[in-house]
Amino acid sequence: MSWFLPAAADLLLGGRCVGCGEPGRPLCTRCRGDLPVEAWPAWPDPVPPGLVAPWACAAYDGVPRDLVLGLKERQLFGLVVPLALMLAASARSAAAAGPVVLVPVPSRPTTVRARGHDPTWSMTVRAARLLAGSGLDVIAHRLLEQRPGVVDQAGLGAADRAANLAGSMACPSTRLRRLGVRRGRVRAVVCDDVLTTGSTAREAQRALESVGLEVAGIAVVAATQRRTRRTP
Ligand SMILES: [Zn+2]
Repeated sequence: MSWFLPAAADLLLGGRCVGCGEPGRPLCTRCRGDLPVEAWPAWPDPVPPGLVAPWACAAYDGVPRDLVLGLKERQLFGLVVPLALMLAASARSAAAAGPVVLVPVPSRPTTVRARGHDPTWSMTVRAARLLAGSGLDVIAHRLLEQRPGVVDQAGLGAADRAANLAGSMACPSTRLRRLGVRRGRVRAVVCDDVLTTGSTAREAQRALESVGLEVAGIAVVAATQRRTRRTP
C-alpha cells in the first residue's frame, strides 16, 4: 500500500518529487532520507566584517536547492517541513542554548504579495516549533522589516550587495515589544533560506544589534559553496 498515497496524490495533483522526479509527493521518502541533518559553519569568503558565525545544513545545490526553489517559486508547501528540519539543525548550532528568538530575514512586501506567501517566515516558524518540541526555549518573531528602496540582490557582487543593503533593515519598537519580558535575556538567531555573500545576514544582524539584541548566530538551510568555506 506504500505506493497508494503518492500515486493517489499524483493522480489528484499531478505531483512529482522535486529531487528525482518520481510521481507522487513533492519530496519522496528516499530523497528525504538523503537530506543532510547536521549543520556546519559556513563562512562566506570574504567574510563581512563583524559577521557572527553562520551555520548551514547543506550546500546550495542538488536537492536542497530544488527544495528552496520549489517552496519559493512553485508554492510546494509540502516542502516547508524538510526545509524547516534543515533550518532547525542550523539554528540549534547557532543558538547553542536558549532562550532564543528566531528572526527571519524580511522579504520585500512586493515579493511576498507577488508570491502570495513568505517562505522564509514559514520555514522559521516551523523550525522554531521543531526545536521547541525537542526542549529548546525558542520562539519565532518577525522582528525585522525592510525599508523601501532596496533592489533585488540577484546578480549583484559582494560590494554592490553590501551597498544596496546598508541600513535597509529596521526593528521597529512595536515589533520589539512582542518579545515582552523575554527581551532582556533572549538572544537572536537570524534565519534565511540561502547564504551567499553574507551581506543580507550582516545587515539583519546590524539592525537587531542596533536595538540592543544580542545576535548568537546566523542559520540558513544552505550556503553557496562557491563562496563559502567551512572555517573562519
Ligand atoms: Zn525523490
